Formats: sequence, C-alpha cells, structure tokens
Amino acid sequence: MQVTEIYKSLQGESTHAGLPCVFVRLTGCNLRCSWCDSEFSFYGGHKMAVQEVLSEVMRLSPCEARISAHPGPLVEITGGEPMLQEREVVPLMERLLEAGYQVLLETSGERPLARVPEAVIKIVDVKCPHSGEPDTFAEENLESLQPHDELKFVLTDRTDYEFARDFIRRHELPARVHAILFSPAFAKEASGARDTSHCLLDPQELADWIVADNLPARLSLQIHKLIWDPAAKGV
Ligand code: SF4
Repeated sequence: MQVTEIYKSLQGESTHAGLPCVFVRLTGCNLRCSWCDSEFSFYGGHKMAVQEVLSEVMRLSPCEARISAHPGPLVEITGGEPMLQEREVVPLMERLLEAGYQVLLETSGERPLARVPEAVIKIVDVKCPHSGEPDTFAEENLESLQPHDELKFVLTDRTDYEFARDFIRRHELPARVHAILFSPAFAKEASGARDTSHCLLDPQELADWIVADNLPARLSLQIHKLIWDPAAKGV
C-alpha cells in the first residue's frame, strides 16, 4: 500500500482524544476539502507491505505487555482517504486487530465501508456544504455503522451547522452511533498561536447553537492544534 507517514502522537479529535496513538497515514485522496490540513498526503509516499506497516506499528507501540482485560494500544488509519486502498487496508486492519490493537479508521464515507471489520471504530467525516465537497457521503454507509462508531462534522458557519443538525435528526444518528462530533474547521495556513483564533467558526458560537438546540452532539476541538504549533506535521 502507499503510505505517507507512520508516527506516534496523541489522538486529537474523537472521543479517544488525548490518548497515545500510532497514526498510519495512507497516500491519496479523491476529495479536495477547502480546509484540508493533509494535502501533503495527496501524492508521493512510499510502498509498504501489510507486514511492514504492522512491524512499524509494533515498534512504535508494542502490544505484548497489555493487560488482556484492557483495550490494546490505539492505532488510527487515516489519510488522505484510506478506503481508496481497500484491498490492502482491510487486511491491515484485520492483522492489527488480531495483534490486539484498538483500530480507528478515519474516512469521509465516500467509499463503501461494508468490508471494514466490525471491531474497527470508524470515525466518519461527513462533508458539509462549505467543505467544497458536499453530498459526497454515501448514504448506504449508514447501514455499515456500528454502535461504537463516531460521526464527525467539520463546520465553517451556520449553514454547515444546520446541515449537520438536520442530517443527524433525519437519520436518527444518536441511536446508531457512540458519538457525534461537531468540530470547527481550522484555517489551513494557521501557524504560531496555539489557540482557537484560527478556527473558522468560533467554538463559543458553536457551543451556543448546540446548547440552544439541545443537540446530542459534542463540541470537538482539534487538541493537537492547541498543544503543538498548528502548522506542525507528524503530531
Ligand atoms: S477527505 Fe480528508 S484528506 Fe481528503 S481532502 Fe478532505 S480533509 Fe483532506
């Protein structure tokens, strides 16, 4: 498979945020979101066999010593769009699960998700109108959601918020998944200050909307952009 980078950091934007996590970032994406912070993964990378990826994950985050009653170390498969490499990424996820890892898959839900192993926790980033890639989520993927999965909406303004709110109500998502994340989009060129001034939508405004609508969505900030320089890679 084509891999951009494998590194260890803290998980930054899900209900697992704050936990140590190995990221396997695959190369290539078929979307072009206006606020994308991973454009460096669109091209290049290097070829790695499933076994090579597994070995590197094990080197960065050994799994042997885990206490069996506890979930294993976290590994997130991300991109780009990992499901563009379904033929190799599905066996990789199976091998990681067999080895005892907790596996997260970050995907836009534009590609079919039916072959993702059930134990994998999918974090599905449904694109909102002002992402530049609206209507790309394949609604048949709703049938592949598991109760432990999470849906994420990256928001730039009120139009995006209302799309996300109406989407979760229309599809009764709170009953289908573990968490619904509303995340303010971050400015692509942001660097320097580690604060929310780079958010395209003020988190305080978003918080007020969620509370006013009594929405079962959780405000999610990209904590890695508040811990390290927002322009930093590999964190
Ligand atoms: S789907 Fe993800 S990687 Fe692809 S353009 Fe959108 S934000 Fe970037």
